[in-house]
Amino acid sequence: MTNEVRQCGDCSLCCKVLGIPELDKPKDAWCPNFSAGAGCRIYQDRPPSCREFACRWLTDPMMGPEWKPSVCKMVLDAKPRMLVVHVDPAVSRPWRAEPYYSVLKRLSAQGMARSIIVLVIEKRRNIVILPDREVDLGLVAAGARIAMERVMTPQGPQWQPRVMAAGETGSS
Ligand code: SF4
Ligand code: SF4
Repeated sequence: MTNEVRQCGDCSLCCKVLGIPELDKPKDAWCPNFSAGAGCRIYQDRPPSCREFACRWLTDPMMGPEWKPSVCKMVLDAKPRMLVVHVDPAVSRPWRAEPYYSVLKRLSAQGMARSIIVLVIEKRRNIVILPDREVDLGLVAAGARIAMERVMTPQGPQWQPRVMAAGETGSS
């Protein structure tokens, strides 16, 4: 592990996989302001969603070079209560491969203790990574949020993610 300041370099994947509401830019489509070789053409005036995006690979020295988004084909967006893994739709299920799967499972276990959900978004499907399993919630409507509930099962109590509609209140 080094203290080097990471830079995007040849990576530009966030300009593809993130949705940018201010620009009506859909998720998983290249931003019209992105130019191969030149990068963002409106960098000084890029909207808040671009400015506020926290790329986990850039800021977490524990994530090795294999986690660079241009290498792993996943962009990790570190939100306050959720780690969102945006998967490049051009690649099939990279999060299921090692070393990524084991790390995501570990992050899930660590996150559960701090009420942080690890969520993979792949071809717009929302898949919650839990320490012991994955739960595919499918498409989630704009404005909805994902909450965790403690439910009783034949095997005992376990955490279960649930989609909460916009305005709905309840456990989180
Ligand atoms: S995904 Fe991260 S490393 Fe890649 S261009 Fe965006 S901010 Fe930079
Ligand atoms: S505005 Fe710039 S930084 Fe934001 S998604 Fe488009 S190209 Fe990327």
